[in-house]
Amino acid sequence: MRVTGTVQGVGFRPFVYRIAVELGLKGSVANDSRGVIIDVEAPAAVLDRFAERLVAELPPLATIETLAVEVVDGLSGATTFAIVDSRVEGAPAVAVSPDVATCADCTREMLDPADRRFGYPFVNCTNCGPRYTIITSIPYDRPSTTMAGFVLCTECRAEYTDPANRRFHAEPVCCPVCGPQLSLLSAAGDLLAKADDALDQTVSLLAAGNVLAIKGLGGYHLAVDAGNAEAVGELRRRKARDDKPFAVMVRDLDEARRVAHLSPAAETEISSPRRPIVLVPRRDDSGLAPRIAPRLPELGLMLPYTPLHTLLLHRFGGPLVMTSGNLSDEPIAHDDTDALARLGPMVDAILTHDRPIHIRCDDSVVRARPAGKPVQMLRRSRGYAPAPVPLAVPTRHQILAVGAELKNTVTVAKGTNLIASHHIGDLEHLAAYRSFLQAVDHLCHLTGVVPEVVAHDLHPEYLSTKFAADLDLPSVGVQHHHAHIASCLAEHRRDDRVLGIAFDGTGMGTDGVIWGGEFLVCDLDGYRRVGHLAAVALPGGVRAIREPWRMALAWARTALGREEAERYGRSVDERWPSILSIVERDDSLRTTSAGRLFDGVAALLGIRPTVTYEAQAAIELEAAAAGEPFDTPADGDGWSATVTRGDDGCAVLDPSPLVAQVVAERDRGTPVPTVAAAFHAGLGRSVARLAADLAAAAGVGTVALSGGVFQNARLTEIVERELTASGVEVLIHSRVPPNDGGVSIGQAAVAARWEG
Ligand code: ZN
Ligand code: ZN
Ligand code: FE
Repeated sequence: MRVTGTVQGVGFRPFVYRIAVELGLKGSVANDSRGVIIDVEAPAAVLDRFAERLVAELPPLATIETLAVEVVDGLSGATTFAIVDSRVEGAPAVAVSPDVATCADCTREMLDPADRRFGYPFVNCTNCGPRYTIITSIPYDRPSTTMAGFVLCTECRAEYTDPANRRFHAEPVCCPVCGPQLSLLSAAGDLLAKADDALDQTVSLLAAGNVLAIKGLGGYHLAVDAGNAEAVGELRRRKARDDKPFAVMVRDLDEARRVAHLSPAAETEISSPRRPIVLVPRRDDSGLAPRIAPRLPELGLMLPYTPLHTLLLHRFGGPLVMTSGNLSDEPIAHDDTDALARLGPMVDAILTHDRPIHIRCDDSVVRARPAGKPVQMLRRSRGYAPAPVPLAVPTRHQILAVGAELKNTVTVAKGTNLIASHHIGDLEHLAAYRSFLQAVDHLCHLTGVVPEVVAHDLHPEYLSTKFAADLDLPSVGVQHHHAHIASCLAEHRRDDRVLGIAFDGTGMGTDGVIWGGEFLVCDLDGYRRVGHLAAVALPGGVRAIREPWRMALAWARTALGREEAERYGRSVDERWPSILSIVERDDSLRTTSAGRLFDGVAALLGIRPTVTYEAQAAIELEAAAAGEPFDTPADGDGWSATVTRGDDGCAVLDPSPLVAQVVAERDRGTPVPTVAAAFHAGLGRSVARLAADLAAAAGVGTVALSGGVFQNARLTEIVERELTASGVEVLIHSRVPPNDGGVSIGQAAVAARWEG
């Protein structure tokens, strides 16, 4: 029997062994470069029973893609069933599993006073534990992990070598006798306590309102008591993070339900072995400090995913803020020396341990969608990377795709697999660029990919583009928004032609305009731009991202004329005359960005003229509409954009009437939530109508939504409803982020078709 799927590093061979022995079969099981091969000899009826049980009792992390059976007559002479050494020929297509949250069996052992791992914060087995973050090299075995320095004790060795044991070849296996230990350090690095004492003192310090750095799986967190408003405020001050929301770790699902409303899909994902942060609507009586997520109706919740987190939350007895261990936008600290240097000045103490983290990996973030729909990926990192995204058709070459600039990830491709890295971050930071270089090397090494082609963005100034240009490889430049739509096609394992709506912040166009509100007829081979939002000035270029009032001024001038623009300018910022003159110049930089439209509308509504994190104004515009119905006002109330034919032959969707309505309603004193909801509905319906027309004209029956603006659950919902009602199939992201974190996946999917 040949089995393919996720069958390596997930306890599959011990599982096969156990069933074979129970059924009295003779033969063997082995890994090879394509999966697992099982030789068994038995009467046909017993073989059928064996195959049934393989599928029915699969270990939690294993999935079977194909199970091929070849029947051979005659006897081999085997007298027992055995796990035989791997028959690895050449580099495997996928070598490495993502990190996996502690399983129920290990948690039970850790909480059982009679167990030898009672209270031990590093318990793990073949079904759970660290993987991606501790692997230094392949093939995956203990010497190639950061556990190499820990010598197995007699009892652990017995478990590790017993094919019937849950810890058979669990590479990070350990116990209090032979494994890593906790240490509590002062901010200056002096040892305060070890092992269980370190944990107890940590809990006391947190309860007293202190800020702690805590070493986790893929890096350090900064932790405070989530119910203590003063401690949360202090953390914001020390981390230099004004408004960007903090994630909260809760003890279990019951505690999650006490602070937020969880949909069935949200409950499934938050308790999955991937354990992401899940954004869910907050309860009014959550009891959590308001500054955890200022002005937002949602909370980012996660459950404990390492044994250390489980013990910590059990002993602390309430939710903890667990935010990435860094200063504002720097990469998360994962190296111990670096953590002490960077985090020491920000914290009162550091809970650390002596199992090194080889590769940093931030927590993943998903967002619950309305009406029980699948969750949407916002940051695909710990627990997901480097699990492959399967391609519909094998790639023609081995590929490295280097992604965009913000929220960067890199992706490699080989055979039918796209393998995306963890979240790397914004490459404008030097530390993030160093992390990018390390990620490229590490991912190629772990997957055995030797790039033959490099795929990159068209933006010449992105550090990732410059990196690609310096490689001595054929390169494929992929337009930013084509990459977004291609990432959505790849996620859905599709390669047919669709109408893509790519709404995002900014991306390099091909006509000197900064794109970001695009309608593309495309497949993985190419694209044709058939529509876009009307272009307006982008006064100050990237400065307009930090200062949405500039976009408000541009849209006020475009939609309502000079007088209204002057009126708004005077009310907001004394620099308005110079910005208005940029807006009115014929030769100023222009953009079709939907993200900037949302920013401008948010600023016109007085939500905020400037932001402290990317897309904050747009996020708060959506937040302002929370609780409002999706379908108000009823169609025909003047809330719609106009469509004209542009000089470039494209359909141009002009939202000026919507902007004018927003300003009129604001002046009439209509409540902001009502106006925000009406803007979403009006824009969403106009976008959907144009998309349906363009799809029909191009003869395609499917529309794919991608780009960072589709992180907006309300807009996504409205566009999806309208299109579905008009008989169009809609593809929405669930496993790949719609934001720039997904761009490298789209680039790789496009480059996979390149014929050069
Ligand atoms: Zn386990
Ligand atoms: Zn041991
Ligand atoms: Fe983008």
